Amino acid sequence: MGTAQSAGTTRQDAGSHRPGPQAVAPGAGVDPVGAPVRLSPEALDHTAGAGAAQAGTPPGTARPDDVTAAGAALPDDALVLGLDVGGTTMKGEITDAAGVVLASGVTATPPGEAAFEAMGALGDQLLAELTEEQRGRVARAAVLLPGIVDHIRSIAVFSSNVGWRDVHIGDRFIERWNMPVLIEHDVAVAGWAEWRYGAGRDYDSVCVVILGTGISGTLSVGGRLVRSEYGQTGEYGHIPVRHADGLRCPCGNIGCVETVASGAAIARAYSRRTGTETDSAADVFALLDTDPDAKAVVDDAISALADGLSGIIHAACPQLIVLGGGLAGAGAALTEPLHRTIAERLRLVPAPRVVLGEFGARAGLAGAALFARHGALA
Ligand SMILES: [Zn+2]
Repeated sequence: MGTAQSAGTTRQDAGSHRPGPQAVAPGAGVDPVGAPVRLSPEALDHTAGAGAAQAGTPPGTARPDDVTAAGAALPDDALVLGLDVGGTTMKGEITDAAGVVLASGVTATPPGEAAFEAMGALGDQLLAELTEEQRGRVARAAVLLPGIVDHIRSIAVFSSNVGWRDVHIGDRFIERWNMPVLIEHDVAVAGWAEWRYGAGRDYDSVCVVILGTGISGTLSVGGRLVRSEYGQTGEYGHIPVRHADGLRCPCGNIGCVETVASGAAIARAYSRRTGTETDSAADVFALLDTDPDAKAVVDDAISALADGLSGIIHAACPQLIVLGGGLAGAGAALTEPLHRTIAERLRLVPAPRVVLGEFGARAGLAGAALFARHGALA
């Protein structure tokens, strides 16, 4: 997620690699970062296998292959290393308990499995910037990955943006950096950070929606982050809301939320409607007050997003919806009409408040540091 850069930024970066709809057949899976992926039988088998293993193991029980074992929260004098890997760049920081950055760096994300060597090298570089005394205090690292991530077995299952499949991370970073290393899904960590330490911290039931080139997020209910065994999280962008007459989504379905409400979809819709090419949803939002076409396009996007979210709201009754990612830069022009539109659709359940995330473009990196420090998404 963009994590990092922000969840939003990364997601936008990732989106630039998105192939057209014709590149993906129905039945394909979807990278949570928003790009289409076709799951091989092996990937599906693997994912199913992880679930099966989990099913036979009590929650919290370490398995032999669980090499990223989480730990207790770290002492205040400990430092942590956080990496947020996006589709085009990866960012890293070493921070203290107050969030002060002692070392930071950015590097390009090379395609394929080479990305993991680049992650290792970025960590090396940051650690080398510390004094010997500081280096001795770096107690844990967290590496956030896009795509589908089996955090239990420490496997990067699939990323269509970076182009890896079933990469067993194992202890390669643990040995290289000589510290415990947590592997997680970027959106899961960014959403958890916004819930526990950002805009959602005063609430137990929160839906975080990361709006960028794609749309995904997290859901916390009754003080617990909802996780599945599939290595994915909150695929809100692929809830079909225009099934009868919608656009074909790269995932193979028709009328997904993303086909109307993602940043790319808003820009495309405005270009189609006006004949004026734009590749930026921010440009469309900037025209809201003066351009009826911009208003119509944004209203349509908000309507689709509200339709998708209303299903989640009826299911889980979140108290709060937190908007992150690049599109959240639209601010009140997004939150206020979205809240109003959601409220219009609800009869039985209360309308949640709609607010902006507090970590903005830093949700991934800030989340990585918090995750490394606390040792679990709890
Ligand atoms: Zn879709």
